[in-house]
Amino acid sequence: MTDSSLQDVYDITIIGAGPTGLYAAFYASGMRGMKTKIIEALDKVGGQLTILYPDKYIYDVAGFPKILAKDLVRQLEYQALSHNPTVVLGEYVKEIEFLKDKIIMLKTDKNVHYTKTALICTGRGALKPRKLNNPSVERFEGRGVYYQVTDKWQFRDKQVMIVGGGDSAVDWALELKDIASQVILVHRREGFRAHERSVAELFNSPIKVMIPYEVKEAYGSDKLESVKIFNNKTGEEELFKIDSLILQLGYEVDSSIFRRWGLEMIDNFIKVNGRMETNLPGVYAAGDIAYPIDSVKLNLIVVGFAQAAIAVNMAKNYIDPSSSIFPGHSSEKRVI
Ligand SMILES: Cc1cc2nc3c(=O)[nH]c(=O)nc-3n(C[C@H](O)[C@H](O)[C@H](O)COP(=O)(O)OP(=O)(O)OC[C@H]3O[C@@H](n4cnc5c(N)ncnc54)[C@H](O)[C@@H]3O)c2cc1C
Repeated sequence: MTDSSLQDVYDITIIGAGPTGLYAAFYASGMRGMKTKIIEALDKVGGQLTILYPDKYIYDVAGFPKILAKDLVRQLEYQALSHNPTVVLGEYVKEIEFLKDKIIMLKTDKNVHYTKTALICTGRGALKPRKLNNPSVERFEGRGVYYQVTDKWQFRDKQVMIVGGGDSAVDWALELKDIASQVILVHRREGFRAHERSVAELFNSPIKVMIPYEVKEAYGSDKLESVKIFNNKTGEEELFKIDSLILQLGYEVDSSIFRRWGLEMIDNFIKVNGRMETNLPGVYAAGDIAYPIDSVKLNLIVVGFAQAAIAVNMAKNYIDPSSSIFPGHSSEKRVI
């Protein structure tokens, strides 16, 4: 490690920006004054709440008798960012290495990060967009084939085909119908799993709905130019001139990396003790990914919050053994 990168050594690096990671980021930077970084594989924060159920109400988070998942994420993000932790989006943490002087190096698919402690809050594992497993389609990834919409304006005046039958497919079709020159929604079943109101709006819109159709082949030279779909009942095929194919097929989870790191696991979860310590020095885990021995495993948001607080207080004490594990009260600190 060079001298200049030594300046980039963080006190704590949180892996995963679901509810547990976001709360840990607030706790570390706001409550414990730690130099904090949070790394998230996706281009947005919130974990399962953002990806799997943004419009579902949650009724069991303390202080919120009823709150939409996306609104809870907004509040958590506001709280997490209040003490300016470094936020890295779109980087998937793949490897860990232990350097001298208790420095931990985390390698992502794009960068290298240095830290004194690491807190793993990766939930069920990395949420990876599900693919079609069709090489003719995958050939155009980033050149007309997309799994996430990061900027809806990139589809202005384009011929867009969206594939999927859930909320995200229908919502994006509705969102893009006034931006793109044409939107075609392709779904392999006759019924949609999306919200009833959105489905009604879909059928009253100019969006061309192709059911029960599936993608057969994508064509183009440098970039995507056309897509052939087929009716999975009749076999009938149709070819459309398409600039952008947006696949909204849900997410797969991958938690396989941690075994390679030498972490002790219980099934697919990281074994931790009551202090949220893993078997690796300076490495903690909290939230859905953590399996506390001598306790119960509850995959709940509030459990992740409490575990995040414990892990951060332990990490603080690990870096500076003279510091108290008890953080004091937030009212004394006036944290926001
Ligand atoms: C449909 C549904 C409804 C639910 N309803 C409730 C409810 O009402 N109340 C309740 O308490 N709980 C509920 N839960 C459970 C709750 O969502 C989880 O307990 C919670 O999301 C766990 O938070 P987390 O931060 O630990 O993990 P996640 O929310 O899974 O977030 C983990 C984050 O880490 C990222 N990540 C993973 N691997 C990497 C990596 N290697 N590098 C970088 N980033 C990575 C992921 O992309 C993700 O953003 C529900 C779950 C589902 C599926």
